[in-house]
Amino acid sequence: MFRTILRALPLRCQLCHHKLEHRRYPWCEPCHLSFPRVPRCLHCGLPSPSITESCGRCLSSPPEWDSLTCVGGYTFPYDKLLHRFKYQGHYWLSPALAALLAQEIEDPAAVILPVPMHWQRRVIRGFNHSSVLANALAKQLGVQCEPNVLKRHRATRQQQGLSRQSRLSNLREAFSMTGSLPERVALVDDVVTTGATIAEICRLLRSQGVKHIDIYCLCRTPSK
Ligand SMILES: [Zn+2]
Ligand SMILES: [Zn+2]
Repeated sequence: MFRTILRALPLRCQLCHHKLEHRRYPWCEPCHLSFPRVPRCLHCGLPSPSITESCGRCLSSPPEWDSLTCVGGYTFPYDKLLHRFKYQGHYWLSPALAALLAQEIEDPAAVILPVPMHWQRRVIRGFNHSSVLANALAKQLGVQCEPNVLKRHRATRQQQGLSRQSRLSNLREAFSMTGSLPERVALVDDVVTTGATIAEICRLLRSQGVKHIDIYCLCRTPSK
């Protein structure tokens, strides 16, 4: 049993395959230092010429949430790591991915909520990656994770490839909430692209008395 666990621990960098000198992350120091970092708007989370509280886009049409913190865009190495975590069952990557995200969060919300997945999709995939990530993140930040407050009660079709209009109608009334929440919470998702899903949840949370919503995601990428 113990040998099995030892074998499961990565001894080589998950990105360049060099031998690991430390076990802080499952990738090596040179790879870690080369992770891309670009200045972003603190409101929508999209790249911006410099770090700003609100970019031009946000000033003309503010997002439904108050702030968005991410690790990077959906590019190497984040896309590769996330793909392994989500689709290849490498759950053990979640603490390392959560640690990357935790580093970016200065003043965390006391309660964080994963974006819920419909039970049918969870059965197919075997786990809700946002829940696994939110749990790992809550541990790192020392805050509470509430995985059952939000419910997705319609198995919405994949958002990818749909027009904006069909995306919106696809999402309408797809979520509900049980229990009570503090005035400030954070939503956790792996990738935010159009933001339509989290915007819909934000509208629900605000209708239930939540006043301040932060978004924590691994990758923030503009929609094409
Ligand atoms: Zn490496
Ligand atoms: Zn912005």
